[in-house]
Amino acid sequence: MKIRIKEILEQTGASCPTTEQFDIEEITVQERTIIFPVQPTIEVVTTNTQDEILVQGEIRGRAIIPCSRCLELFSWLFNFEFTEIYDKKGPESIDLTKDLDISEEVYQYLVVNIPIKAICSENCQGLCPECGINKNYESCECRLAGVDPRWEKLKRLLEQ
Ligand SMILES: [Zn+2]
Ligand SMILES: [Zn+2]
Repeated sequence: MKIRIKEILEQTGASCPTTEQFDIEEITVQERTIIFPVQPTIEVVTTNTQDEILVQGEIRGRAIIPCSRCLELFSWLFNFEFTEIYDKKGPESIDLTKDLDISEEVYQYLVVNIPIKAICSENCQGLCPECGINKNYESCECRLAGVDPRWEKLKRLLEQ
């Protein structure tokens, strides 16, 4: 994503808006593949301050992400804000003769905002640790059949 900064460079305090669809199809974070069925929308306002170029923006869209509990894919809506500051002078300064490319920064913001635990629904029952069925659709007898030593102890106490 590139921002045309040329026009705002002439005047301190000048700003310009930029809206773009971010070109990304999928990313893999912590061995999970996150798919973007539509390109996320990036909306930024770029301001020319005294010494810096200030980029304030928003990233929003929809991603298909696997549920951490049941592993089913679900639609995750996201919307988050970000701010980036670029030096106009000094050793870390950007090239003011070119458009400002913020693609790498946007990509990084997307990656860090992918939730570590994404749950398809608060009521998601997850997978049975014994037989592996999806408990949202089916039920099993594993819990009842398996003898949990903690329950045994409790049972004995209750029987006394
Ligand atoms: Zn789930
Ligand atoms: Zn089971």
